[in-house]
Amino acid sequence: MSNLAGIDLGTTFSAVAVLNDIGKAEIVPNAEGERITPSAIYFDDADSSIIRVGIEAVNSRHLNPDRSVRWIKRHIGEPDYRVNIDGKEWTPRELSSLILKKLKQDAGIENGEITDVVISVPAHFDEARRKATMDAGSLAGLNVIGIVNEPVAAALYYATTHDVSGRVLVYDLGGGTFDVTLLDVKEKNIRIICSQGDHALGGIDFDKKILEMFEQAYRGNYDSELISCREEGAKYEDEAEDVKKTLSRRDTAKKMLYGQAGSMRFEISRQQFEQAVEPLITRTDMLVEVILEEAGCKASDVNKVILAGGSTRMPLVQKRLEQKFDFAPEIAVNVDECVALGAAIQAGLTKLNDEPDKVSAGISGGLKDIKLKDVCNHSYGTICAPKDSQTGQYVIENKIILPKNTPLPCEQSQRFYTMADGQTELEVTITQGEDTDPDYINKIATEVFELPADRPAGRPIKVTYSYDTNQRMHCRFEDEESGNKLEVDFCVGENDKLTRADVEGKAQELAGFKVE
Ligand code: AMP
Repeated sequence: MSNLAGIDLGTTFSAVAVLNDIGKAEIVPNAEGERITPSAIYFDDADSSIIRVGIEAVNSRHLNPDRSVRWIKRHIGEPDYRVNIDGKEWTPRELSSLILKKLKQDAGIENGEITDVVISVPAHFDEARRKATMDAGSLAGLNVIGIVNEPVAAALYYATTHDVSGRVLVYDLGGGTFDVTLLDVKEKNIRIICSQGDHALGGIDFDKKILEMFEQAYRGNYDSELISCREEGAKYEDEAEDVKKTLSRRDTAKKMLYGQAGSMRFEISRQQFEQAVEPLITRTDMLVEVILEEAGCKASDVNKVILAGGSTRMPLVQKRLEQKFDFAPEIAVNVDECVALGAAIQAGLTKLNDEPDKVSAGISGGLKDIKLKDVCNHSYGTICAPKDSQTGQYVIENKIILPKNTPLPCEQSQRFYTMADGQTELEVTITQGEDTDPDYINKIATEVFELPADRPAGRPIKVTYSYDTNQRMHCRFEDEESGNKLEVDFCVGENDKLTRADVEGKAQELAGFKVE
């Protein structure tokens, strides 16, 4: 086995795969012998420096939900989100790093240390979420050589292990996020066309619907609340997930509900469940429509639909896709594992591209025919103030420099002009989003660019954005007359307030916690 790994850092479950000596990806089981690890964290009651990650954390959370963290991926990249445990304010990236640390530790038991990793992220994750995920990897002591979009990883694994060609749609419904990606595959050549997604739609939203039905049924029977404390909430969240999974196999599911007013039997049919979750499935349908429209194609142009993510086991998902495409979707080998397996392949491809002499002959031979052409998933631009030709007024607007779905690697430039005589600085803002109105886009970085003094207005500033195949973005602002440059790099250690020194300092602080 090599030390090149792919990590699927999921909302509910995570998995690690490594490349073997001939470049094939294999899942590495955790210390408990399981192929996937719950992305759950529990801070030990007796000793808060001991942190349990995985199945033990899931089981312990019923005892004390206040010391438990789940679904942290929903919050990664949110600047103000904190979880307070024993007075320490944990950020989402620190919490995610605990999960990654457990995965790294466990993978090392049988495989030897994993060093260079690619971590997968939902295709629609914005730059702040991507950056925070990479930082989490660094805090866990991993060398994050790139990130890959989850549906791209699933497609990469599928296309390199199956005989597939034509236009393929990957429908990826996981624990907390949904992504849909359209791609062209010809043997092992994979060309991504476009992606759409929703980072607040996944299995936990389906569980919540059942939880609501538990409450409704109990209230109908006893006119009293079923869940009266967080411990019970945690218990019934798990019961709701269990009911959901049962309904993927059977027509009905039953549970006993034990509230303070008394106990009762709860029974639900698959049909009732499917009616309740209809609005959630419709949200996925709409995003499927959007990417078909974005790609300028019809459902009948799609040759294959591949399922990824545990929530695609719900029969309703499969039924709806079959109605839309007129053929049954295909399950991507193991829906829980295909993303990690594809991420490991991407780790190999990245290493081959960056440092080919450090890759063994066996691995480079195994990967040699695979070609992946990805696209950038968002539009990137800058805020500028062109003069309105009719009113003569300056209007603040977002100008796109790198449009969404541009094939990677890519580089594009535009020229802007200084507005005032004697202007000595320029506030540059890097944006993400499609709208021209700055209120409707994401401002991912703002920097001050120093300019030479004593010049008239109208000096040209060349703005160049590039995006590499590892989803790393680079922006350059260049004062063409003086040659002054400002470079902004969206990779680990730069921007977003966490410098390389910060990463090292934080990693040291976290080293004081024992992850089990
Ligand atoms: P993933 O993040 O891809 O591992 O997906 C995890 C999600 O899949 C969780 O919300 C699970 O509840 C859900 N899931 C797993 N198995 C099933 C099943 N048999 N039926 C419905 N949902 C499932």
